[in-house]
Amino acid sequence: MNKPLSASNASNELALLSLVVPVFNERSMLPIFFDHVLPILASLDMRSEIILVDDGSEDGGAEFIKTVIKKEPSIRLVKLSRNFGKEAAVTAGLENTRGNAVIVLDADLQDPPEHIPEMVGAWKSGFDVVLMQRRSRVGESFFKRLSAHLFYRLLNRTSRTEIPVDTGDFRLMSRRAVDALLRLKERNRYMKGLFAWVGMPTTIIKYDRAPRAAGQSKWDYPGLVGLALEGLTSFSVSPLRWATLAGLIAASVGGLFGAWIVLKAILLGDPTDGYPSLIAIVSFLGGVQLLSVGIVGEYVGKTYIETKQRPLYLTEEVVENREVRNRDEVNTFRGVKNVKAI
Ligand code: UDP
Ligand code: MG
Repeated sequence: MNKPLSASNASNELALLSLVVPVFNERSMLPIFFDHVLPILASLDMRSEIILVDDGSEDGGAEFIKTVIKKEPSIRLVKLSRNFGKEAAVTAGLENTRGNAVIVLDADLQDPPEHIPEMVGAWKSGFDVVLMQRRSRVGESFFKRLSAHLFYRLLNRTSRTEIPVDTGDFRLMSRRAVDALLRLKERNRYMKGLFAWVGMPTTIIKYDRAPRAAGQSKWDYPGLVGLALEGLTSFSVSPLRWATLAGLIAASVGGLFGAWIVLKAILLGDPTDGYPSLIAIVSFLGGVQLLSVGIVGEYVGKTYIETKQRPLYLTEEVVENREVRNRDEVNTFRGVKNVKAI
């Protein structure tokens, strides 16, 4: 862990804390979320804003948020034009923050907001990044825990950017860490890796991850496997090397085995039963080849997506209660136009 270099401008009384919350079909969660989070924010000795990013919800969540905004001027809604996925939603949220410190938080209260004061405290003591590390994974199946464990180990063995074990998107970042992160413009956004790439003075706080309070997880196993592949191939090219190595080993074994059969036939006059060994070798080599092509394809696909240079997400509207904000301030959001006032 790094030592803090300098205390940020955290001592400033008017410091602003931004919460970034990706929201996708969380209508049942939202009232509970606000009930929990708003009192905690009110208890802080700094100003705060909540940026809710509606990631194409189809359950009327955005409409509900708009009604809350009428009463709660500290909330802003960034509505994306469709579902772009959590990573894009978090990026959209970060781009809309103005805080001196930013916390990324899930809407389902699995990232307990009770830790916010502690995180802010760590930031005030000079850390740029406050990582929240899961101590337990209550309510998750054994298989999910095992696969998560194996995945982190594998990821860190293959990549030069060390990605801390059992941390998610739940974390606090200083303004300069957020700005650094937003300079990474890649399309394949494996957020944990991007966060880790930024580095900066970091501290870790352990917490117990609670089960979801309402609604359903948006991740299924195919989705998680996809995310794992994304993580591996975004942050390391060593799978390409494994493919080469596996190919090399398979080819050498096959070659030696072939030579052995030939020698046996010439020297010992031993006629070999060709069919079974042939099938074995062909299927083995076929497998290695398919695997290698698949791995190469993963990277080629990534390059393809990057070259298209599409925006990461499209904003349909940004809604906030402008009564309390002055117009100029609103217009300085990075890259966001058409802020709609209600
Ligand atoms: N989420 C999102 N877009 C998506 C999927 C999820 O913005 O396409 C949000 C979701 O609303 C929640 C957070 O990301 O606030 C975490 O999602 P979820 O609880 O489903 O993931 P898990 O906690 O199971 O990893
Ligand atoms: Mg969750």
